[in-house]
Amino acid sequence: MKTRPSSLPCRQAGIVHRPSLKITTLATCYLLLATLLLGCQQPQLYKRSQLLIGTTIEVTSIDSRAPEIVFARIKEIEKVFSKFDPDSQIYQLNKLGALQVSKEVIDLIKKAKFFNQISEGAFDISVGPLVDIWKQAIKTQKLPAQSQIDKARKLAGMDKITIEEKNSTIRFKRKGMNIDLGAIAKGYAVDVAIEALKKAGIKDALVSAGGDMYCLGTKVGEPWNIGIQHPRKPYEVIGYLKLANKAVATSGDYEQFFILDNKRYSHIIDPKTGYPADKKVISVTVMAPDCLTADALATSIMVLGKEKGGELAKKFKDVEVRILTNDDVGNN
Ligand code: FAD
Ligand code: MG
Repeated sequence: MKTRPSSLPCRQAGIVHRPSLKITTLATCYLLLATLLLGCQQPQLYKRSQLLIGTTIEVTSIDSRAPEIVFARIKEIEKVFSKFDPDSQIYQLNKLGALQVSKEVIDLIKKAKFFNQISEGAFDISVGPLVDIWKQAIKTQKLPAQSQIDKARKLAGMDKITIEEKNSTIRFKRKGMNIDLGAIAKGYAVDVAIEALKKAGIKDALVSAGGDMYCLGTKVGEPWNIGIQHPRKPYEVIGYLKLANKAVATSGDYEQFFILDNKRYSHIIDPKTGYPADKKVISVTVMAPDCLTADALATSIMVLGKEKGGELAKKFKDVEVRILTNDDVGNN
């Protein structure tokens, strides 16, 4: 999703000059004019980005402290939740099959269980083995063998993940299981970054992590203007949203995918089939009070399809969705 900083034209301040004015008064007027011009000048917008959690984190704010606060907080999230960093708790849990973890990990896995249950299994962080074989397929542009898919499917299922509260331990019931938080931890990372900004007294900022973002406050008095990428025309925007104090997340089949025999295979997996979601939905944008909800719902709706996905969204207060199919974008 694209955002652009905007600098509004500044009204010209006029000063009336009287002919008998002395030099000092004239200088004062110029000084006054300069102050007025400076005073009505739009505050400068700071815009910084950094590669973290496998995507570009972009921060826009009139408060120059905002970017560093966000990057520092998301770095902490990456250290805990990345399935790629050998020192992270999730990497260790996936390697050992059982691990005593922090309250933060327990809480996020409980949220993942909630979305799994309310999405009737469409959202499922235990699809890790399936995600891995389809990410390989996207790299090689070759379909995995059915036997590989069947084997990976047997390892999926949230019921195979137990949470032992008393010793804060997560345990997998099957050897070879692995969890993938790619559809919820980015949204969570944005939410905790926003909390860190609020704690520092920052009221206005845009924090974007790939397709997931939070619009805190306003952009110099106006709502943030967010463009939604066209799912089939990469350099076009298919619509704009004006948001303030709202999260927005988009999932789609146009970032990580391959096409074989005219069929598109993306990185979003239908746990029921073991294959990439193919309910004809090509892009889902969810606006929600928090980014974790927006993130998890966007992926769930990609799996459920337009009708069931729309019903799922209705179960949430203050959630709005834009669900696009090929027909909606005239691409049949
Ligand atoms: P979304 O639709 O938001 O999520 C799709 C992703 O969720 C898939 O990529 C898969 O990971 C998972 N998923 C697929 N199907 C389902 C399903 N049915 N239910 C639940 N989840 C599903 N990428 C890198 O390349 N390198 C990195 O080092 C890296 N580090 C990361 C660290 C963290 C903490 C996180 C959260 C992500 C990281 N990623 C990294 C990115 C991650 O691998 C995914 O590519 C990314 O999160 C996908 O986000 P999305 O918005 O494109 O898709
Ligand atoms: Mg997402």
